[in-house]
Amino acid sequence: VIEKVVYDVDVIIDVLNSEELNVSQIEKLLRFYSIHILGYYAHKLRLKIFDKLASFISNMILNYTNVCIVACKFCAFYRRLNSSDAYFLSINDAIKLVEKVDNQYGIRQVLIQGGLHPEISIEYFEELFRKLKAKLPHIAIHALSPIEIHYLSIKERMSYREVLERLKIAGMDSMPGGGGEILVDSIRQKISPKKISTDTWIKIMEISHKLGIPGSATMMYGHVESITDRAEHLKKILDLQFRTRGFNAFIAWNFEPGNTELQKEGIVKYSSGGSTLLKIIATARLVFKHYIPNIQSSWLTNGIELAQLSLLHGANDFGGTLYEERVIPATGLKVKFLTRDQIVNLIRRVNLKPVERDNYYNVIRYY
Ligand code: SF4
Repeated sequence: VIEKVVYDVDVIIDVLNSEELNVSQIEKLLRFYSIHILGYYAHKLRLKIFDKLASFISNMILNYTNVCIVACKFCAFYRRLNSSDAYFLSINDAIKLVEKVDNQYGIRQVLIQGGLHPEISIEYFEELFRKLKAKLPHIAIHALSPIEIHYLSIKERMSYREVLERLKIAGMDSMPGGGGEILVDSIRQKISPKKISTDTWIKIMEISHKLGIPGSATMMYGHVESITDRAEHLKKILDLQFRTRGFNAFIAWNFEPGNTELQKEGIVKYSSGGSTLLKIIATARLVFKHYIPNIQSSWLTNGIELAQLSLLHGANDFGGTLYEERVIPATGLKVKFLTRDQIVNLIRRVNLKPVERDNYYNVIRYY
């Protein structure tokens, strides 16, 4: 298929001058022929908002269980309940792990996410959050994406609002955008038919924002979606942001096919290349402008060199150190975790100024 290419800079100027965008305008950016021109305008806008500052956070991922009943075709992480390598961290073990990582590296955020375990309850999270807050009050709890909230609401026979209110009282500070994938139902049916619909993901995010729980918006691209689907996804996130102002960041992850059903079935053989990431990052900056101010670099799946390039194509946030992340290594991808000092150096090497941030994107240290 030969893609229709777009060269016309007026397409970018038009987006820069508009607030209410339509899918076609966003799609034209995603199809823009020159990454350099698109990246130039995105970087210019990023400099206008953040000057040369590039932020990062010292954080860890707490993947509390790999047992999951959803069985997404793109996921190499999940295991059945009776699988020999299934695990479920007890509250004590989870807290010990966070303490260990904090003692070693000093962290400001723990991102808590896992599979949908048939025996999990809201009390598990309430106790975990409360104990974490009591022992490690300096660490923000960025926890449970909409699919986990949906699952708890069914298991506990509570509304989304009740689940979120209880978790907020227990210590949940913000919500990661996991499970957003591509917010187009025909695509979700193909890659994760048992997952929540687009409307449910948006509804849970909207309730969460209205309860004062901010979050990040994510996008997982490079599987069966079209460029038009990517544009629709960005448009839905922008529309929600205009209603709630609850997203503080956008993160695009490329799909890693290793050890997944989509690869085994021959549907997706390779991960998408760096040019796709840069076009998505640049488009996200031009579309979200300062309305979703922080665009992350996605170093975990795209590698550190591309993450550095992202910072020059519209992204302003390198992301986190991500200690203990277990989902991506499950795909077979060799991941070398980054320390605070390494990220500082990586940012300096592209002539930007590293700053450490907290969970809410406030600068806590200049380097
Ligand atoms: S992506 Fe999440 S919901 Fe889907 S199978 Fe993996 S752990 Fe379960």
